[in-house]
Amino acid sequence: MAAATAGPMLEVQDVVHRYGPVLALNHVSITAARGEFLTILGESGSGKTTMLRVISGLERPQSVGALRIGGEDVVNLPAAQRNCTTVFQSYALFPHMSVEENVGYGLKIRGVPMDARRRQVEEALNLVRLHQKSSRRISQLSGGERQRVALARAIVTRPALLLLDEPLGALDERLRYDMQTELVELHKTLGMTFIYITHSQEEALTMSDRILLMRHGRVEQTGRPEALFDRPVSRFAAAFMGFENLLNCRVERKLESGRVAVRVAGRVFNAFTAVPAALAEGGDAVLAIRAERFTATAADDGGSNFLTCRPTERFYRGKYVDQRADSEAGPLRLRAWDKSTDTAVFSAVRCHEDDCVVVPQ
Ligand code: ADP
Ligand code: MG
Repeated sequence: MAAATAGPMLEVQDVVHRYGPVLALNHVSITAARGEFLTILGESGSGKTTMLRVISGLERPQSVGALRIGGEDVVNLPAAQRNCTTVFQSYALFPHMSVEENVGYGLKIRGVPMDARRRQVEEALNLVRLHQKSSRRISQLSGGERQRVALARAIVTRPALLLLDEPLGALDERLRYDMQTELVELHKTLGMTFIYITHSQEEALTMSDRILLMRHGRVEQTGRPEALFDRPVSRFAAAFMGFENLLNCRVERKLESGRVAVRVAGRVFNAFTAVPAALAEGGDAVLAIRAERFTATAADDGGSNFLTCRPTERFYRGKYVDQRADSEAGPLRLRAWDKSTDTAVFSAVRCHEDDCVVVPQ
């Protein structure tokens, strides 16, 4: 393989950045492979935008171990000379210019000749399916179309790295859903590296090759969507990824390959953990279980992965039924997607050990 195409497209090592007293990035490292769709996920204020601004050069970090784009050290390069562009939620378009003028603006100031410019603008507008509206003014476009213009403008120069800061945040739900699919297709077509920011776990799960979950300026967990969804490494990650039941437990025994036995309100649960080294036998931990993974039952066979409980509330939601119950381990949430397993009368719940995840407290 040629040297220029080897190695990751993005390498950020140990960034620290403060705004006055606020520690926005607290020793963050990020790597993205060539052609990867990497999503930075996190709640508002977790440092996502600051991270993108450091990568793009809009923000100069207080300290950084290394910052390379396509293998090139860019720490001292101004934003305009970095091989990346950013798409913002706010579009940041010129309202008085036409669609094609907006898309071609960057090429024009770089002195790209008119013919080449026209061709590249047309190609970019084709990719976002806006070629028929190239002479429209921005004010004559819908929100979704404006975001497509912003996208076309960002990809027209074919940067190595495309940074997207909550680009679908201003769109309504239906449009957001369609644009998610289009962005994934665009990513495939272009083969570019995308760094995508969102606070929506659903968006991150459906779009990404890999997710990086941020919390308070730190990386909480990185991995494939399946790993984030099924194998959280902390109580925060479990809660953020939607585990509704977080039960206090005690670690009884650590077994092989991530298997672990815990005790919850006197009952034994066989479970697994993605972080065995972070758990100590005899120590406190948290057992995380999704509401839909509990099975309501009446039988008490004295086995493991079982809690006695009493149903309290029932909510019909159309596609599924949510229930609450009081158990010997505290309140529980249950969700039934399947009418055949939905029952309003039960005195216990059980959960298969593959659906029981133990995380540190
Ligand atoms: P996110 O994009 O995840 O919502 P940000 O990177 O925008 O998070 O912000 C991280 C933290 O830094 C927050 O506490 C935010 O209030 C603070 N912050 C961001 N930008 C500035 C700024 N220009 N001046 C002061 N504080 C800022
Ligand atoms: Mg932000």
